Amino acid sequence: MTISSGRTNAENVEQYPESNPVMGMEEDAVHFDTIAVRHGHHKTAEGEHSEPLFLSSSFVYQSAADAAAHFSGAVKGNIYSRFTNPTVRIFEQRLAELEGGERCVATASGMAAILAVALAFLKAGDHVVCSRAVFGTTTSLFEKYLQKFGVQTTFVTLSALDEWKEAIQPGVTRLFFCETPSNPLAEIADMAALSALAKANNILFAVDNCACTPALQKPLAYGVDLVIHSATKYLDGQGRALGGAVVGSHALLEEVYGVVRTCGPSLSPFNAWLFIKGLETLRLRMEAHSASALTLAQWLSVHPAVERVYYAGLPEHPGHALAARQQKAFGGLVSFVVKGGKDAAWAVIDQTRMISITGNLGDTKSTITHPATTTHGRLSEQAKREAGIEDGLLRVSVGLEDYQDIQKDLARGLDSLIPALAAKTECVST
Ligand SMILES: *Cc1c(COP(=O)(O)O)cnc(C)c1O
Repeated sequence: MTISSGRTNAENVEQYPESNPVMGMEEDAVHFDTIAVRHGHHKTAEGEHSEPLFLSSSFVYQSAADAAAHFSGAVKGNIYSRFTNPTVRIFEQRLAELEGGERCVATASGMAAILAVALAFLKAGDHVVCSRAVFGTTTSLFEKYLQKFGVQTTFVTLSALDEWKEAIQPGVTRLFFCETPSNPLAEIADMAALSALAKANNILFAVDNCACTPALQKPLAYGVDLVIHSATKYLDGQGRALGGAVVGSHALLEEVYGVVRTCGPSLSPFNAWLFIKGLETLRLRMEAHSASALTLAQWLSVHPAVERVYYAGLPEHPGHALAARQQKAFGGLVSFVVKGGKDAAWAVIDQTRMISITGNLGDTKSTITHPATTTHGRLSEQAKREAGIEDGLLRVSVGLEDYQDIQKDLARGLDSLIPALAAKTECVST
């Protein structure tokens, strides 16, 4: 790992740097937070201290010959921002380094990142094995759109290695795809076991690392081939912009790059600039999200209005030991089932005064969602049952507000479901 000293070096910019020169720092002295704050920024001749925003769709050349050399690839450099952009490149290099990957290609959204992987590595007749517990739109992408182009997908239980094994069609299955932990039910995948199975069958393995980010989990270290991000979530972390990314080896990412540059879902430099600043505080934020989420999960698990809590940080969670091995902390998403079904769940939502009622997650602001009628509302009753989306299920993306205020905002609705507690709350407030 190398890192930019941050010295002004106009030559670097013109030479389109492949790596970041180390000046005055031993390679092994560079840690996660240092990479997150400094990596990838080669200062321009202006000597700017903060990462510059290059809002330029195209780039210019010294001469006709210089232009020709750029277009032929003989000289490396920027041509057009659908291909490369200096601000986007800072984000890509920084995220690649944080994930421990050789290269990153940024995309316009998380879905664009998944689509780019599909277009890069799948063709008509190929087969995909995907966890049932993935982001809803990911399921639609595989089921509805890729199927149109002759790609078949089998959906399996994330934590059931046997199902993955049985779903493999030798020589036809090309891709394994999952998220771990899953959302909203926090199932955990054994990444080392799945990647061994994938390798033995010549299958690519892609993991959507949106929920953990590299601050908590680095899938490439478990033999995963491709890491996918919705940068919209924790990488930005402040609910401002859409973006995505794919990270992996040079060879695989060259294919992804070809798709993005040709098909066009390139990341806006403005959004990249926001994500660069987001990465700088990533570990601090993920630890704070995780700490509050764990406390909330513990409190919910003993609340009389709560039937069940889904959070891998709780020792009784079936994936707890595995998550503790793979992750530095358990993340910011807590789901729970309240007693009394949909009416009770809606009552909890409607009595919040601070927590935002929205489907988004990974924000400094806490959010609350009723999956059965929002994110998973289009699923049939049977599909909901299979996916474990009960009527009483709520998902909270725990933000960075003071923990006491988050708990209090949920306690109001939860206490109201228990007559004895509601009476007590009333007494106190009158
Ligand atoms: C939001 C999300 C996506 C899609 O990302 P967009 O940026 O909204 O396109 C993919 N995977 C997961 C796990 C997500 O939460």
